[in-house]
Amino acid sequence: MIVIKCAGCKKKLMKYHKVGKGKILNCWFDKIKNDFTLREKESVVCECGNLIGTISAKGIRMKPNSITYSGTIIKK
Ligand SMILES: [Zn+2]
Repeated sequence: MIVIKCAGCKKKLMKYHKVGKGKILNCWFDKIKNDFTLREKESVVCECGNLIGTISAKGIRMKPNSITYSGTIIKK
């Protein structure tokens, strides 16, 4: 489980069950545990106004430069 934070204000955005290596490019809705983000139509934004990503069919397409994260990534 990792904690994804806003790169702008360091606020916690969501807890995410990450499996596999690599960067977080897409967050699937069924693996998001706690979601503190806001929605503006197709956009996912932080309370500070930082654009985090955009909604796609099954998840959120993240903007890697907008987020930081910490925690353990489970290796398959
Ligand atoms: Zn923020």
